[in-house]
Amino acid sequence: MTTLEPEAGHHPRVPAAGHHRDVNGGWLRPAVFGAMDGLVSNVALMTGVVGGAVSNSTVVITGLAGLAAGACSMAAGEYTSVASQRELVQAEIEVERLELRRNPQGELAELAQLYASRGVDPDLAREVARQLSADPDRTLEVHAREELGVDPNDLPSPWVAAGSSFVCFAVGALLPLLPYLLGATSLLPALLLSMAGLFLCGAVVARVTARTWWYSGLRQLVLGGAAAGVTYLLGALIGGQVG
Ligand SMILES: [Zn+2]
Repeated sequence: MTTLEPEAGHHPRVPAAGHHRDVNGGWLRPAVFGAMDGLVSNVALMTGVVGGAVSNSTVVITGLAGLAAGACSMAAGEYTSVASQRELVQAEIEVERLELRRNPQGELAELAQLYASRGVDPDLAREVARQLSADPDRTLEVHAREELGVDPNDLPSPWVAAGSSFVCFAVGALLPLLPYLLGATSLLPALLLSMAGLFLCGAVVARVTARTWWYSGLRQLVLGGAAAGVTYLLGALIGGQVG
């Protein structure tokens, strides 16, 4: 998976006073990175076999297989990752639930201590903790939020994560295939379309980071182009040996 480092030295474009951009990037970030993964991996795969001088139908079959294999692998990986994270969090929430049942006073003191450690006056911290612990259902939620940093009623779904990474990867992987499916007989239209797609993905990612759109677009273009170049060379080298 591609990671996104926070970019220092640029002023973030904050939409309105008192509002923040979604620092996780919301759905846009995983969607664009998923599509970019599909695009880079499939254009590199197809360029590789073209380097090995194979027929157009082989290029298309390779591209379709690459799309299917990549989308399934991304979905399976995402499912496992989100499901295991979710199970870990649920186990910790269960620990907290038991602890709240067994030792409510100790948990109340722990919560008050937490607010006091953040700078709230000790008496006020005890009062805040007491009021937040009035409703047993809400108490668990408060403890989960404060101690685990999660909302127990809003844990990410592994199926949604798997489904969306499958679709995003497939969309990206389809791009270099499109010209062939529409009748192109050389790699050039697929390359041009893929480069345009890479630039677009990079530019869209710039909306999440604080980088300018053209810098982010060019960076993606160069990285994707390098991946395709490497596989083309490998394809040409190996194709010359086995062909
Ligand atoms: Zn607790």
